[in-house]
Amino acid sequence: MLTGQDLAAFRGNLLAWFRHFQRDLPWRRTRDPYRVWLSEVMLQQTRVTAVVPYYERFLERFPNLHALAAAPEQEVLRLWSGLGYYRRARNLQKAAQQIVAEHGGEFPSRREEVLGLRGVGNYTAAAILSIAFEQKHAVLDGNVARVMARLGAVRGDLRARRRWQKLQNSADAYLDTKSPGDWNQAMMELGATLCAPRSPQCLLCPVAQFCEGRKQGIADLLPEKRKKRATVDIRLAAAVFADERGQTLLLPPPEQRNTEQLVDYVPTLASNLWHFPTVSVNGDPVVKLRGHLRKLQIQNQNGHLPFVRVDKVRHTVTYRSITVEPFRIAVKKLPRIKGAESVPLDEITVLPVSNLTRKVARAALAAASEQRSR
Ligand code: SF4
Repeated sequence: MLTGQDLAAFRGNLLAWFRHFQRDLPWRRTRDPYRVWLSEVMLQQTRVTAVVPYYERFLERFPNLHALAAAPEQEVLRLWSGLGYYRRARNLQKAAQQIVAEHGGEFPSRREEVLGLRGVGNYTAAAILSIAFEQKHAVLDGNVARVMARLGAVRGDLRARRRWQKLQNSADAYLDTKSPGDWNQAMMELGATLCAPRSPQCLLCPVAQFCEGRKQGIADLLPEKRKKRATVDIRLAAAVFADERGQTLLLPPPEQRNTEQLVDYVPTLASNLWHFPTVSVNGDPVVKLRGHLRKLQIQNQNGHLPFVRVDKVRHTVTYRSITVEPFRIAVKKLPRIKGAESVPLDEITVLPVSNLTRKVARAALAAASEQRSR
């Protein structure tokens, strides 16, 4: 553990490096807690480059807490569509409504109040409070934990409860209390750039002289691998209707559907968003999908609907490995399903849809254009 002059030099080096070399990111140009909060939520489990356009679009439509709180949930989800982990968007809006109802629309600045907001945990609270309010709270997420583990040559599973608490204690002790916002961002920036998971660039690192992992030659072996959860394979079949005008049918999120339609609902596919009629499969996908369409009361010529097999789509959500077998079903007129919406197949994002649903649409469009060019 660094103390005295070493600690002062360590802080000075890292802050100077951050202030000189930090990436120019839109959320770094503001201290508005709403914007800081939005960026932190979007950045959870998502790369910076993917987040930037979503962040900008979201703020154009919802420039402040009140606009977000008052919006229809479907509109919020539509703007989140493609970013994944949709619970984040739902929680974000619920927390915005909480702030309006309980804090008069002013973002709270007391830790207990921030932690009381929907979807806000220790990391997000520390990030908002330090960056927007300059309060002395050290952040600890996967990136910062990796940096701390390398600096201190910490072995073992970092997420083990006691080890994580020790890392939090070290992060608290290292925090530069004069500039907590910049300090936290500097630690995150180091973890996201030079001290990345693979091949840390120790030769360029501003704090290399203080790094025990580098001294021991084990920096790139840390953090030690955790035991992985076994992968679960999921096989699905999806019906992509296409009428003569290029329109298709999407089913609504499950909470808007009747119980009949909930039969065989597959949550991993839909993320509670709009999706193609889909069913889980362990035998013949055509038989299973026809049965599913019958349950959805798509009666008209169901037995004769022309199912054309489309390239399989693969998608991974945490430990789930999903394979979808889409079938393109060309029809003169789209069947009627209660609650379903007709949207252009090449523009399904007019409704909030998951990345997997987009992939299925792309596969169906590619198959159709291949068929036309033959
Ligand atoms: S010296 Fe290397 S391992 Fe240590 S903090 Fe810097 S980049 Fe990370």
